[in-house]
Amino acid sequence: MQYLKDHQEDFLEQLMEYLRIPSVSAQSDHADDIQSCSDWLVAHCKTIGLKTRKIKTAGNPVVIAQTPRKGKSKKPHFMVYGHYDVQPPDPLNLWTTSPFEPHIEGDKLIARGATDNKGQHFVHLKAVESYLKTGTELPCDITFMIEGEEEIGSPSLTPALEKLKSELNVRAVVVSDNGMPDLKHPALTYGLRGVAACEVRLKGPNRDLHSGIYGGAVDNPAMVLCQMLAQLRDRRGRVAVPGFYDDVAPLSKLEREQSKRFPHKDTKLAREL
Ligand SMILES: [Zn+2]
Repeated sequence: MQYLKDHQEDFLEQLMEYLRIPSVSAQSDHADDIQSCSDWLVAHCKTIGLKTRKIKTAGNPVVIAQTPRKGKSKKPHFMVYGHYDVQPPDPLNLWTTSPFEPHIEGDKLIARGATDNKGQHFVHLKAVESYLKTGTELPCDITFMIEGEEEIGSPSLTPALEKLKSELNVRAVVVSDNGMPDLKHPALTYGLRGVAACEVRLKGPNRDLHSGIYGGAVDNPAMVLCQMLAQLRDRRGRVAVPGFYDDVAPLSKLEREQSKRFPHKDTKLAREL
């Protein structure tokens, strides 16, 4: 802890340097920035004392940084996932400060990528640094995997993971790429909603039909689609697709108790939205 306190200003400087790199993955004119950002990260991880390398992919590189291991380590192995790419800063006229020139306001650091996701994995890196630089034994082995395509759907991540499979036999992955309820409640996210996408095509009559003559007798595809979509959820928001919950594990007693502690109020949310 003392190391963290003693170096807080340096850490802030370093984070600001990281945030100044406009590593926008969705815009091809930032391709060089993506490369220099991954280079910056590799160099930084090395100064921390991590065994670091850059994995080439068909797209943007993945940075792998590991805590040093002595021989065949028997410690539990965990992964910290993060991404060094950021969202485009547009529309620029809505920014009151420059997106890639970090700006401190009170206890907030404002810059593109500060909270998604450079700031978060930087915190993990600094925590590990304080162990390594003070010669404190880490209770576990940690592998950082920091990719550069999260904001464009991570197309190169699965092939990279396939390649690294044997060395990434981790017990759990820590993903600090989500929010926390408030400053007093740091959150450990252990589950996220998934997404399933599909395309539905409905075929209707072979020509426009006059509603006065055919209405009621022949279904309008737009109406049928509305009816189909409306049936996917019931009024309480439960998914009404048969079999959908078959392999969903019920919440445990502990999970229910913990979720009650969550400082969430519908009224507050309604006000915010
Ligand atoms: Zn993110």
